[in-house]
Amino acid sequence: MPLGEFALIDRYFRAAGAPRADVVLGVGDDGAILRPPPGCDLIAVSDTLVEGVHFPPGSPAASVGHRALAVNLSDIAAMGARPAWALLALTLPQVDEAWLEDFARGFAALARTHEVALVGGDTTRGPLMVNVQVMGFVPQGQALRRSGARPGDLLCVSGTPGDAAAGLRCLQTPGLLDASADQSIREAWRTLQQRFEYPTPRVDLGLRLSAIASACIDLSDGLAGDLDKMLAVNRCAAIIDLDALPRSAAMGTLVATGAVSALDALRYTLGGGDDYELAFCVPTSRRSALDELTRAAAVSVIGEVIELKDSAAPRLSVRSPRKGLTDAAPTDADLTDLLKAAVGFDHFAA
Ligand code: ADP
Ligand code: MG
Repeated sequence: MPLGEFALIDRYFRAAGAPRADVVLGVGDDGAILRPPPGCDLIAVSDTLVEGVHFPPGSPAASVGHRALAVNLSDIAAMGARPAWALLALTLPQVDEAWLEDFARGFAALARTHEVALVGGDTTRGPLMVNVQVMGFVPQGQALRRSGARPGDLLCVSGTPGDAAAGLRCLQTPGLLDASADQSIREAWRTLQQRFEYPTPRVDLGLRLSAIASACIDLSDGLAGDLDKMLAVNRCAAIIDLDALPRSAAMGTLVATGAVSALDALRYTLGGGDDYELAFCVPTSRRSALDELTRAAAVSVIGEVIELKDSAAPRLSVRSPRKGLTDAAPTDADLTDLLKAAVGFDHFAA
C-alpha cells in the first residue's frame, strides 16, 4: 500500500532536524509554536528549487535535500544571523520512498550541523519542487545588509566562486568525465560537481562578519552579477583585481592541464552561479580585524569599492595585470565583454 501523506510526514520529516528548546510545538499541529529569544531581531528567508531549473533532472535526492536547505542558510548567513527554524514545502510527482529517504537524509544532516529544527511544512503532489523557509536571530539592530558600503571599502569574497558552475557544466555534459583519460582531471571535475551538489553555507563566517562588514550579499547568481546588485543598492562602483580572484586547487588542475582555458576559468569565477559564498565590503579602518579573519577563514580581498562617477557606466571594472591568462591574452575589450556578460544574468531573461 502506498504511504499516506501523514505517515510520510511522520516517517521522513518529524525528526529531520535538530531538537531545540525554543520549539514549543513542532510538526503535527496546524502551526508550529516558536519562542524567539528576547532582544533579537527575527530574520526570515525563503528559496525554492525547481527540478530542471535549479538542479538537473535525476539529481541525487540527498543533494536536493542538502541544497534546498543550504541556499536558505546562505541567505541567513548573508544577514549575519544564526539559523534556528525551518519550514519545508515539498511538491512530489509521486511517493518514491527511496528518494524520500535520501532527500530527508541530505536535509537532516545539514539541519543538524547548524542546529536547525524542522518545525513544519506542506506536502503536495505535482512537478518536483522544494520550497524552504528558514528563520534565524540576530541581536537587535545588528543584521548585515546589502547596503552600507562606502568608496574606499575593501571588496572581499569567501571560498572559490566559479567551482559550482563548472561542476554543473560537467554534470550536464554527458561523457565529459569519461572523455578525460587523466585521473587527476577526472578527480578535479568530481570535486567541482560536489561543490554544485553540496554547497557549504557560510553561516559561521556571516556571524563573524556582523562586526566587520559594512555590507554583505550571498552569491547565488554569480560573483559579478551579485556584486553588481550590492553596488547598485549602495550607488557605488568597484574595481576588481583579477590576480586576486581565488581559484580552487581543482580548477587550478583543470587550467594547468588545458581541460579548461584560463579565460573560461575566469568566466566561471565571475559569471558562474550556485556558489553560496559570501561577498562583502570592509572599511579600511577594520583592516586588522579582516586580516585576523582571513587567517581563520577562506576569505580573499579581491578589490575596492570606488565612487560611481557616471551612473550610466558599468559599476564593475577590472584591474590589470592578469597573470595566468597568457594562453588567451584577452584584450581590455574582451574583459569588458566578459564582465558585461557575467553581470547580465537574469532569471527571467529569454
Ligand atoms: P494542514 O492541512 O493543517 O495544513 P498538514 O496535514 O498539511 O496540515 O500537515 C500536518 C503537519 O505536518 C503540520 O504540522 C505541517 O507543518 C507538517 N508538515 C507537512 N508537510 C511537511 C513536510 N514536508 N516537512 C515537515 N513538516 C511537514
Ligand atoms: Mg490546518
